[in-house]
Amino acid sequence: MTETLQGVEPVQPRTIAVVGGGQAAGWVIKTLRKESFGGRLVMVADEIHAPYERPPLSKAVLSGDATVDSVALVKPDDLKALNVECWQPDRAIEIDRDRHLLRTAEGRELQYDRLIVATGGAARRLQGSQGATKNLAYLRTIDDAVRLGARLRDMKHLLVIGGGWIGLEVAATARKLGVDVTVVEGAPRLCARTVPPLVSAFLADLHREHGVQLHIGAGLYSLEDHPDDSRRVLAKLEGGRCIDADFAVAGIGLVPHTALAEAAGLPVQDGIVVDEYGATEDPSIFACGDVANHMNAWLGRRVRLESWANAQNQAIATAKAAIGILEPYAEIPWFWSDQYDVNLQILGDVPVESMPVVRGNMDEKRASMFFLRDDLIRGVVAINAARDLKLARKWMNQGRKVDKEVLMDTTIPLA
Ligand code: NAP
Repeated sequence: MTETLQGVEPVQPRTIAVVGGGQAAGWVIKTLRKESFGGRLVMVADEIHAPYERPPLSKAVLSGDATVDSVALVKPDDLKALNVECWQPDRAIEIDRDRHLLRTAEGRELQYDRLIVATGGAARRLQGSQGATKNLAYLRTIDDAVRLGARLRDMKHLLVIGGGWIGLEVAATARKLGVDVTVVEGAPRLCARTVPPLVSAFLADLHREHGVQLHIGAGLYSLEDHPDDSRRVLAKLEGGRCIDADFAVAGIGLVPHTALAEAAGLPVQDGIVVDEYGATEDPSIFACGDVANHMNAWLGRRVRLESWANAQNQAIATAKAAIGILEPYAEIPWFWSDQYDVNLQILGDVPVESMPVVRGNMDEKRASMFFLRDDLIRGVVAINAARDLKLARKWMNQGRKVDKEVLMDTTIPLA
């Protein structure tokens, strides 16, 4: 794919279609105009809002401290100033690759020179009797967050299904609002797909300390309206335990929106397959953000990332490539989460079953964990240790070797 792009004479496209209206789409639009793309720019999105930032949804928006306006990435007036045609709400339903034609659910057609798919994904749904209640919500969009926030301020006990990032951030926000919280996680530990056991244990302690009831390694058998009050919920866990609550929220993962690309015959494998420029095998079609399974030059392998930093930076690289500016995407993956008084950041490659080199004291909620390979830092988890992470990022980019003993010794300043 890289060769395809590099072999093509950079012809300035006249029309670029962006499918999706989230953070990645927002950065595509901003970047195209910043890089002086002067042609027709059309954004097709099923949400009515202008592109916005997602990290505040499970925190400030939920608690009522942020609004649709304050989390906007591109304000509606900016879209006008950038001369973007917004087809909203509408949904792209078909790509005719031979004719370079995009069709939408509202019956519109668009002839494109370049098409950038930034469709993100949807919250995974509980199936059958696991999700057989109307007193259950998912959190993906700003409208979801505003609705759930209003409910939170009016309830006593929230049941959270899923001890991943959404579940834990929602739990922390609910506790801040004085709501009792129970979390049910099917896996044997929290955030098991993204962090090692040491960090899962830290997160469990943190939430217990704030009064959250945790049921870990607990399979959900059913989630239904409460038989005594249909405005409440009753969860039954495998093993027989019952939990009743006012309302439930499920954060059980994300399903990438790949159907449009798949139907167009583009390779899809845990996301739309793209190269380090965001290009698919079709040189006029690109993909970025949560939906893209991209080649990451720093990792040296393909990855699909669901993070704020990726939605921004991979989208920027993709937008540039779409107009012929080829800068391979090689950012070190970076992710953060804020829960209570803890800022947790994850950088690089963090093997979830390995034992890191630990600097600091987890009990004092200030520690950095380094994952080394051949004396090089390949990954970091930093708990209230943003400065360590910043330094590690620099060394990782430089490929600088480190001494394990020095990393562990807090009497020796890292810098
Ligand atoms: P997630 O982090 O993948 O966590 C989902 C969790 O739910 C997993 O531990 C999963 O276990 C568990 N689970 C699945 N089915 C279950 C069931 N039936 N009962 C109980 N537990 C179940 O996904 P998420 O929390 O939904 O978040 C969605 C995406 O948004 C993620 O990529 C996340 O990183 C991102 N996000 C990012 C931030 C941030 O940047 N700070 C904040 C929130 C969300 P298994 O792994 O065993 O299936």
